Amino acid sequence: MSLPVPVVWSEDCLRHDPAGEVWLGLREPGTEVPARALVLRDALAAAGAPVTAARGHDDTVLRRVHDPALLDHLASVWADWEAAGLPAEYGRDRVVPYVFPTPGLLAGLPLRTPPAVHGRAGLYCYDTMTLVGPGSWAAIRGAADAAQTAADLVSSGSPVAYALCRPPGHHATASAYGGSCYLNNAAVAAQALRAAGAARVAVLDIDAHHGNGTQMIFYDRADVWYGSLHVDPGAGWFPHYAGYPGERGTGPGAGGNRNLPLAPGTGDDGWLAALDVLCAEARAFAPDAVVVSLGLDAADADPESPLRVTEAGYRAAGRQIAALGRPAVFVQEGGYHLPTLGALAVAVLEGAATGAYG
Ligand SMILES: [Zn+2]
Repeated sequence: MSLPVPVVWSEDCLRHDPAGEVWLGLREPGTEVPARALVLRDALAAAGAPVTAARGHDDTVLRRVHDPALLDHLASVWADWEAAGLPAEYGRDRVVPYVFPTPGLLAGLPLRTPPAVHGRAGLYCYDTMTLVGPGSWAAIRGAADAAQTAADLVSSGSPVAYALCRPPGHHATASAYGGSCYLNNAAVAAQALRAAGAARVAVLDIDAHHGNGTQMIFYDRADVWYGSLHVDPGAGWFPHYAGYPGERGTGPGAGGNRNLPLAPGTGDDGWLAALDVLCAEARAFAPDAVVVSLGLDAADADPESPLRVTEAGYRAAGRQIAALGRPAVFVQEGGYHLPTLGALAVAVLEGAATGAYG
């Protein structure tokens, strides 16, 4: 049987070439490479999934989840960097911030927007490993359009749709990018479902890392629930500063956030048991639709996490999520082991389809 889940992508996603990352002071090759998208697309197409192009959307939904200043910055920062002569005169071929306006720096001073692009870069980016180059904005915008197009498909009756988003998104907050993420594609999908009439949306984040950006975007909102299972950030893993069990939401969103950190080395049993807990809580929230932040980096072979989930584990996760009985938008997040990436994506979506399509 061919995989009945529509796959939405934008060819523009191939134009983002971060050309490495600056990690702990060294520029390294990085693993968030364009080939990821091709591997995923080819594997899903080979499994029989219909592949469709993302449709363009205006900024209405984006501006509900992101500070418009972040959108403007991402759209223009490469051109400003180039105009400042940084690539041509100094060989600085990607945007990398070097100073960050932390609370410790400002100590109560008003937050300014420095006119110099090399100063401004750290205002909207919180790490040194999320580089911007000439084609980045087209890819970032294309990924957000893919998420929104997949949400459109689900809003118009498809039980499941998959957005092949690259770059990924769940580390992007309302006003800052980082963690190889620029705009929060999962949050865009959730907001698009809301705009199309879903009163309540649950976001299930099964990436190996905590989706700090998605958590913070919906932290004080009652209409979008967020739950994540991820490697314990206190055990030395990104995003270090968020993803702990005590983070439960605030104001109208109090109780609407759930983090289940897992010990390094956790395999199928512990991972699926945690997913069971998240699914039970999502069910209690009674969502009209579900967004899945689909990271494939919890897999055993993945170089970016110490979790040890198998292909069978991902297939079971797809079934568990489908058992919620709600239409679901799967949004691609991490997943970096190219030889196994395609089979993992097929497994989880086959699992989801088995449940959703009967
Ligand atoms: Zn991840």
